[in-house]
Amino acid sequence: MPLVQTRRLTRQISIGNVKIGSKAPISVQSMTNTKTQDVDGTVCQILALEKAGCEIIRVAVPDIQAAQAIEKIKPQIKIPIIADIHFDYRLALASAKAGADALRINPGNIGDPEKIKAVVDCAKDHKIPIRIGVNAGSLEKQIEQRLGTTAEGMVESALRNIRILEDLNFQDIKVSLKASDVSRTVKAYRLLSSKTNVPFHVGVTEAGGLFAGITKSAIGIGMLLAEGLGDTIRVSLTRDPVEEIRTGFEILRALGIRSRGPELISCPTCGRCNIDLFKIAGQVEKALLERSSKIKVAIMGCVVNGPGEAKEADIGIAGGDGKGILFKKGKVIRKIDQDQLVDQLLSEIDNMTKKSEELNGQKE
Ligand code: SF4
Repeated sequence: MPLVQTRRLTRQISIGNVKIGSKAPISVQSMTNTKTQDVDGTVCQILALEKAGCEIIRVAVPDIQAAQAIEKIKPQIKIPIIADIHFDYRLALASAKAGADALRINPGNIGDPEKIKAVVDCAKDHKIPIRIGVNAGSLEKQIEQRLGTTAEGMVESALRNIRILEDLNFQDIKVSLKASDVSRTVKAYRLLSSKTNVPFHVGVTEAGGLFAGITKSAIGIGMLLAEGLGDTIRVSLTRDPVEEIRTGFEILRALGIRSRGPELISCPTCGRCNIDLFKIAGQVEKALLERSSKIKVAIMGCVVNGPGEAKEADIGIAGGDGKGILFKKGKVIRKIDQDQLVDQLLSEIDNMTKKSEELNGQKE
């Protein structure tokens, strides 16, 4: 049985220039945690996220100042921007006018059919999609009373919201079903998957601090992706959102779905290790974030076992007693003074990248 099952066939939507659904690559997105009306702070965070590979960004729109800020943010960034609105339909209209590439608003929360229609007409005019974001913690009262905050309740809420939009002849939708635990999240997406072909935005919400958050997200998002469910993902962490993007790509890489930048493997160290491998691995990990080539790099604790254990790595270093080694595909290339290991590894990686780019250029 393959690790990842065939992807569920969904309709395709576009958020700015990023396609979501059908055969489009599974995109990785995040949300800013700045005040959106702080244009400089928000742009600065989005630019850092773009550098980390973020493909779509969402900003909170709690008031009109935030909606209007989108107009100033947009020309300074490259990736599409989604306006996140909870109830106030006027903020959706203002965000669309300010240039938002998509809206996140649940039509069922707006209430008045006239106001819902105004938002849908506005989305049609601007040719922007709407994301329905169902959250187990904020289900409609009638649904919660009947079904509780269950996966079934989340699915019913999603279907109700999808129906409201489709009855207004609006198909440009994606949906998320988020709970703070893996089991309800996974169950809800599974249940909904056979009832609609709307693309899925997948994530586990309020997942927690770094360790709990990464673990829950990796399991929840990973299980769903492995079942072929999910068209765009967002990891939620109580951290710098750049960490969300890194985690998102690592989840996709671990499943063999998509990769970005070099892959780092490193040994856990043991009694044979005579260097500060934690420090070296940290330095290399940081430096690799700035590089885009898809090279596999190994950082190993000892020269005796390191090169062999990391045979499948394109390049690696292993520490010894004062001297370390640089190896490629398990073969020792040269001995290096320990304090030079990181610098020489990085310059070797840059040389290899340059050579392979030249080779690719010749082929083209
Ligand atoms: Fe231990 Fe060496 Fe293996 Fe690292 S590479 S775990 S130091 S034997």
